[in-house]
Amino acid sequence: MKVVVATHNAHKVAELQRILEQQVPGIQLLTYDGPAPVEDGGTFAANALIKARAAAEHTGLPSIADDSGVSVDALAGAPGVDSAHYSGERDDAANLQLVLTNLGDASNRAAAFHCAAALVDPLERDASGATFEHVALGVWPGSIAREAAGVGGFGYDPIFVPEGLDVTSAELTADEKNAISHRARAFAALAEVLRERADRP
Ligand code: IMP
Repeated sequence: MKVVVATHNAHKVAELQRILEQQVPGIQLLTYDGPAPVEDGGTFAANALIKARAAAEHTGLPSIADDSGVSVDALAGAPGVDSAHYSGERDDAANLQLVLTNLGDASNRAAAFHCAAALVDPLERDASGATFEHVALGVWPGSIAREAAGVGGFGYDPIFVPEGLDVTSAELTADEKNAISHRARAFAALAEVLRERADRP
């Protein structure tokens, strides 16, 4: 079963290949190199669908995409869908520093990483001609540390303390993080939908 991954990030393709090949035997992920759509959906799910639809339209093949970020309760859900450029720049250090500054010494530091994983399959249409679409959501609850710690991961990992742990997600190994992250949870749910399709005669 060939599935296009709508990302230009080779690291993400490799990470998804590891997650999906264990759960969907025979899956072969292809990298999408077509035009990138404008991500103006307003939610993680809407943006993941926009990316998966663009790849499906361009390639004619089943396509998957994800959109992710961190939401902080005391900041009314920010950075949310603006996580990649919260500070105005695509700059991880500036983005996480702005979260620390805006949160100050607030005692409510609850936060969660969110990931929406979308599948759009142009090879399957319903009676009205609509293309098959499915979005799975993964949430990784935790809190925002008072200062950054750890050198692993990327983005907000140095200030995110997963629920039940006393280290940041930047202090986990890649394998530890990939086993429990929001992305792992969303793609594990999407893998079930892919597996049903792969099993069909
Ligand atoms: P993307 O849409 O999945 O490329 O991610 C959007 C942004 O959310 C990234 O640039 C990071 O700032 C943040 N983000 C998403 N997932 C993670 C994660 O696993 N760790 C840290 N930051 C993340």
